[in-house]
Amino acid sequence: MKVEFSVPRRREKLHRMGEFMRERILYYSTNCYLDNVEGMEPFKDRVSFREALLLGQAPDEGLFMPESIPQLSLDEILNLKGRPYTAAALLVAEAYLGADLPLETLKAVIESSYNYEVPLERVVDRRYVLRLDRGPTASFKDFAARMMARLMSHFRDPGKRLNVLVATSGDTGSAVGEAFKGVAGIDVYILYPREEVSGRQKKQLDTIGGNVRTLSVEGKFDDCQDLVKQAFADPALAGLNLTSANSINFGRILPQMIYYVYAYAQLAERGEEIVFSVPSGNFGDALGCEYARRMGLPVAQLVMPTNENDEFPRFLKTGRYEKISPSLACLSNAMNVGHPSNLARFFDLYGGTVDRTGRVHKMPDLEEMRNNIFSVSVSDEETRRTIRRAYDSYGLILEPHGAVGWRGLELYLEQTGRKVLCVSLETAHPAKFPEEIVSLLGISPELPASMRDIDSRTGEPLPMTGDYNVFRKFLEKTLKAMD
Ligand SMILES: *Cc1c(COP(=O)(O)O)cnc(C)c1O
Repeated sequence: MKVEFSVPRRREKLHRMGEFMRERILYYSTNCYLDNVEGMEPFKDRVSFREALLLGQAPDEGLFMPESIPQLSLDEILNLKGRPYTAAALLVAEAYLGADLPLETLKAVIESSYNYEVPLERVVDRRYVLRLDRGPTASFKDFAARMMARLMSHFRDPGKRLNVLVATSGDTGSAVGEAFKGVAGIDVYILYPREEVSGRQKKQLDTIGGNVRTLSVEGKFDDCQDLVKQAFADPALAGLNLTSANSINFGRILPQMIYYVYAYAQLAERGEEIVFSVPSGNFGDALGCEYARRMGLPVAQLVMPTNENDEFPRFLKTGRYEKISPSLACLSNAMNVGHPSNLARFFDLYGGTVDRTGRVHKMPDLEEMRNNIFSVSVSDEETRRTIRRAYDSYGLILEPHGAVGWRGLELYLEQTGRKVLCVSLETAHPAKFPEEIVSLLGISPELPASMRDIDSRTGEPLPMTGDYNVFRKFLEKTLKAMD
């Protein structure tokens, strides 16, 4: 793929001469205002992008937020029309990171992160599907994980290997593992529950190889997460340079702003507004759209459909937030979240505060939220019906997550009667859900090119118990030997 970049020429020239100085954006914690809350010591510092990236989470368990949001002009955005994805990526990433790393480095990061297609498929009228399923693990999580991995490689302490620990129930682990594969100076340890991942997921995880090792843990996903959390909190392991790569890292949010800008630039006429529908679980993907709008993208409305875990649509309706615990097991399993971790960021952007446990300390501006965001819950039955109907009506093949997105968009259009340019996100490849698609549509979608050899890959996980002492000994022995 030929790479083209679009930082406006004048800015690029000044960059080269070392004269273009962006103000460095600093990051604060969403919990920084919680002064009089028992058991809480709010983190008041501002940190650089590098620190936010390597820490992952603020010391007070809040999420890092950029103190200012850079602006893109409509001309800069529309200039991306007909240009490759990497051009949009550079425009957005430079706006945040221009002061933190050299433009040449950023270009290299982007070029090696985005070497696959990003199809925009017209369905009917001005309604499109954006397929974010052509990366190495055929899920949209590849977009964020690949860029974050390369940024971590750039920002890590030189001369010291960085060790990423990830607990996964399936898809995130393989996206993160593939993203870090072969990335210089970083080793990855993925923990997954032995009995809870599907055969194909296990294959994806165990066969990455190289600097990415998998541990198949005797226990549940929560046990994996506990092992990882204890390791981060363990002073005895402080010297091992451990870090996390989970979805609350701002380094994963930034790349998720790019495809909104890209899609708008490809499709919109000057002056036109757009609606995005984003099937939502932890709200990281939708947050990318919220930031893109705040950067100047003409987004008329952000549609955020959830599955039956409907805590957020209910909150928008009633103004009362009640998390769902435990979360419900729905067909769109990557969205089975009863308290979205990025809700804290949405609240913050709308002037409110909610903590990790789901307790609301300050209400956000509900009216403004309702003006910008439309959210509905889509049941499993409706999801199945949507998959069938989209195929019958348009020949459109959706998997369960994308179907939640598409149904949410239909409901939005029905309820508002609007005629507007719309893009619904398809976040995984239908071939990742063969049983469902075969039973609903009677066809078996072909695996994307990136996964076609999956059944012939080889690799074995390391067995691990749920006992923290065993895990700690393993880390001490293995990581010291790697130094
Ligand atoms: C993670 C995931 C989602 C949900 O994205 P969030 O950022 O957590 O809202 C949707 N679809 C697929 C396929 C996913 O893997």
